[in-house]
Amino acid sequence: MALVLVARGSERNVEVSRASDLDVGCVVVAAWCSRVLTEQDRASIHLAKARTKAKTKSTLSMARPLSRLVADYVVVGAGSAGCVMASRLSQGGKASVVLLEAGPPDSSALIHTPMMIGTLVGHSKTLNWRYETEPEPQLDGRRLYWPRGKTLGGSSSINAMVYTRGQREDYDHWGHDLQLDGWSYEHVLPFFKRSQNQERLAPRSAADSQQEQQRRAIDARYHGTGGPLNVTDGRAVSPLSHKFVDAAQELGCPTTDDFNGASQGGFGLYQVTQIDGQRCSTSRAFLSSSVRQRPNLHIVTDALAHRVLFDKTRATGVEFSFSTGGSKQTQTVHANREVIVCGGAVNSPQLLQLSGIGDQQLLHRVGVPLVHHLPGIPLIRFDALNLIRFID
Ligand SMILES: Cc1cc2nc3c(=O)[nH]c(=O)nc-3n(C[C@H](O)[C@H](O)[C@H](O)COP(=O)(O)OP(=O)(O)OC[C@H]3O[C@@H](n4cnc5c(N)ncnc54)[C@H](O)[C@@H]3O)c2cc1C
Repeated sequence: MALVLVARGSERNVEVSRASDLDVGCVVVAAWCSRVLTEQDRASIHLAKARTKAKTKSTLSMARPLSRLVADYVVVGAGSAGCVMASRLSQGGKASVVLLEAGPPDSSALIHTPMMIGTLVGHSKTLNWRYETEPEPQLDGRRLYWPRGKTLGGSSSINAMVYTRGQREDYDHWGHDLQLDGWSYEHVLPFFKRSQNQERLAPRSAADSQQEQQRRAIDARYHGTGGPLNVTDGRAVSPLSHKFVDAAQELGCPTTDDFNGASQGGFGLYQVTQIDGQRCSTSRAFLSSSVRQRPNLHIVTDALAHRVLFDKTRATGVEFSFSTGGSKQTQTVHANREVIVCGGAVNSPQLLQLSGIGDQQLLHRVGVPLVHHLPGIPLIRFDALNLIRFID
């Protein structure tokens, strides 16, 4: 489930150029802004850079408040989208990036141990926002539980690790029918391949290599190797799962060895985003320890963005609060180039609304000063409803 909205900012206006339902596993809301740097900005950048360098990167949080924090790009939310954005933007060392994450670092063993997913989704209050919907009229007034990750890696740190891309037909609908440049299947496929290390094509060890003989083949036209996101077959597949697929086959249903190949239909076993038996969240994949050590990347955890700051209608920074020494402090970070909101399907629209981008009447009703009337927020989204049945 995901939405992508790209907002372009100039000195005069913020103009939404695209708003569509996209099942790409991420929500990216980007507000572009550009202007000439002042001397004060340059001084602040140096200050921020010096402090960033001095900081112990492994703590991933602010040792103390900075009087003024500045970066070329400010990314809000270190989830699936935010980790990729921060990693790619800071690559090469030319641009400085501040990545704000409301949750804590992803140091809990619960995150990295795949079988602990039940605890993460069901019980964790620190690593999960634990949302509930409003009473749903179509569900006899019941509320639905809506887990969302709240840590580095975001929902990819608590999710079920199933590696499934969106459908070719959906991308082609966006790319061709809706004429969204760059979103057709043929355009997105190279990016999927580049981000992936498909273990069926690239076994990680000699033992894996031997197992490779027994492994199912995979069509290399749809898969890549050498990328940061490790994709593999599950290590501990229940015999019941095999029986289930066999039973479907006996009934004449189509089966598949690859849900991300030429066709996505059929009964089969999922591949998972895991590495050496551990979760391969986007944080683990794209914010590796060497990436985290980049002097031009400043990751701030336990940092809740309150609103995007604007100069008229141009996004200029973010106001956020963070904990230091047991107390909460409010801080602003200035963006010289772009503010990129990657807060997920729930929090991104919320942050925009808190920032004054949304339906004029609604914002007026709740007392948020209007920056830009955008009735499409909150946006339409896809829901993935799951039915899980336990068999004793
Ligand atoms: C329980 C569960 C199981 C799932 N299973 C699968 C699966 O098996 N396969 C699959 O492909 N997908 C699965 N998904 C969906 C997938 O994980 C999400 O679609 C994807 O991670 C969304 O990425 P995102 O970047 O949009 O948001 P997220 O990954 O949720 O990231 C948003 C981040 O922004 C942070 N944030 C939010 N607001 C603020 C703020 N104001 N200030 C600072 N930080 C903020 C959040 O804490 C979070 O870290 C699952 C999701 C869940 C919750």
